[in-house]
Amino acid sequence: MKHNWTREEILDIYNKPLMELLYEAATTHRLHHDPNTVQVSTLLSIKTGGCPEDCGYCPQAARYHTDIKGNDLMGVQQVKAQALRAKAAGSSRVCMGAAWRNVKDGEEFDQVLEMVRTINKLDMEVCCTLGMITENQAQRLAEAGLYAYNHNLDTSEDYYKDVISTRAFQDRLDTIGNVRKTNVTVCSGGIIGMGEKVEDRAGMLVALATLDPQPESVPINALVAVEGTPMEDIEPISIWEMVRMVATTRIVMPQTQVRLSAGRTQMSREGQAMCFFAGANSIFAGDKLLTTPNPDVNEDMKMFELLGLNPQAPFVKKAKPETVEAQDSKHIPMGEKPKWSRPGHTIPRNEEAKAKAKA
Ligand code: SF4
Repeated sequence: MKHNWTREEILDIYNKPLMELLYEAATTHRLHHDPNTVQVSTLLSIKTGGCPEDCGYCPQAARYHTDIKGNDLMGVQQVKAQALRAKAAGSSRVCMGAAWRNVKDGEEFDQVLEMVRTINKLDMEVCCTLGMITENQAQRLAEAGLYAYNHNLDTSEDYYKDVISTRAFQDRLDTIGNVRKTNVTVCSGGIIGMGEKVEDRAGMLVALATLDPQPESVPINALVAVEGTPMEDIEPISIWEMVRMVATTRIVMPQTQVRLSAGRTQMSREGQAMCFFAGANSIFAGDKLLTTPNPDVNEDMKMFELLGLNPQAPFVKKAKPETVEAQDSKHIPMGEKPKWSRPGHTIPRNEEAKAKAKA
């Protein structure tokens, strides 16, 4: 496994003639995965909106004016019911997202831990995306039976400063480092089409591919420009850019599950089929991705049938984690107040969107 990728090497791959790129990516894919199996995950927004962060692409940031209806943390039984529905529809993984800057010890986190225990007992892989976490919080999630923790790098370190001012790229790497100290797998990827250069896409892949071990799962999102966010006017990227990004990700991270994430509603079946050929082997199912539209589950199942794809069973890449009950936990909450950074620099389009929301 190569871990010393450079931006130039990755750019050379990304810019290859398309047929060569596809051939190399599909060959790599076949060496490490069954090309007819695709993992299906369901993303569930367990706490929506009202987020204090300023991510320029996100309709859940409290400071922008979007149509998002916020909700408090969902109950455990409500989450269980949705997980059962997802399982019946063919999902092997539930990813629970909360619009938080970072996890705080207390009742709400205890409730999330109970959700993790509950879903793990349904024999589904459980993933959480809750913002920045400490090592102790990662240990508590692991003990509850968490299979994966999602924490996207979003883009290159250079371009990150043009997207978010309320935290730094290093905070993301530190959280991934905390997850790595446990047996929870890492899911980390990014978004293309935010106005970044191709060099930034390569830069993000360098940051991910030089991690040792590489993330077990890498979601590749296409920006869904939502009205009211700083990126509302950015035009969608072309399918060719998505195919190139997926193929390059597959080549530089051969063993990872490359997930086609946000932006699938803008892709034709042919476009998605090309992404699967280029090495994508995971999708998010369900008609919503946190807050943005996603293809209908039945449509996805029809596409699977048409392409001869099969949903991946849970725990084929790694054994099911044990769940330790709350009363038997070895990791007591430490009530830490970690100093995650807050660079606070000015990003003109974020400021404009904020001013518009106030007007
Ligand atoms: S992406 Fe996450 S952290 Fe950023 S504003 Fe949205 S919910 Fe908050």
